Amino acid sequence: MKIICLSCGHKIDLGDAYDDYAGHVKCVTCGGMLDIKTEAGGLKAVTVTRERPAEPPMAPAAGLDPAAAEK
Ligand SMILES: [Zn+2]
Repeated sequence: MKIICLSCGHKIDLGDAYDDYAGHVKCVTCGGMLDIKTEAGGLKAVTVTRERPAEPPMAPAAGLDPAAAEK
């Protein structure tokens, strides 16, 4: 599994462990953070996140107040 860093264009060899993976990978060449998604050995999506922290994936739904529903 090899990807190309969107920041510097360097090839990153991730190995077979990343054939089915979704998460962050750090480019050793430029230090940029990449958010990647792979499936069955193929790359599905790459975005550069750099040092900015990713938003929490399980954010509570807005407008729902569990305290109001409990009685
Ligand atoms: Zn890079």
